[in-house]
Amino acid sequence: MKSKEEIIEEMQQVVEQMRLDDIEDNPETETEIFECDCCGQGKPLAGSVEYNGYRLCNDCVLLAETGFALGKFTNVEQLIDAMEDTRLEGLCEIIKAEERKANN
Ligand SMILES: [Zn+2]
Repeated sequence: MKSKEEIIEEMQQVVEQMRLDDIEDNPETETEIFECDCCGQGKPLAGSVEYNGYRLCNDCVLLAETGFALGKFTNVEQLIDAMEDTRLEGLCEIIKAEERKANN
């Protein structure tokens, strides 16, 4: 039986590797930005994964995979629900950034 720390460490490596593989396959993914369906922030496409039609950024993939591995949740919708507050914060940041742009 692996400890929680071991599982998290393993997942960090796996998810980071996914990001590196994406960049290796297609270097553009490192700078190409999309809006993550989970945290709502603009994140690089590299290392993102689609679950049930939701595209998650590399950071959220880590949360998802760790959560699945630890049995915290069984599907991505549960993570997205749990991330709702963060997503709203992300949305606020996008709006603020747009306002800043508009003011310039
Ligand atoms: Zn995300």
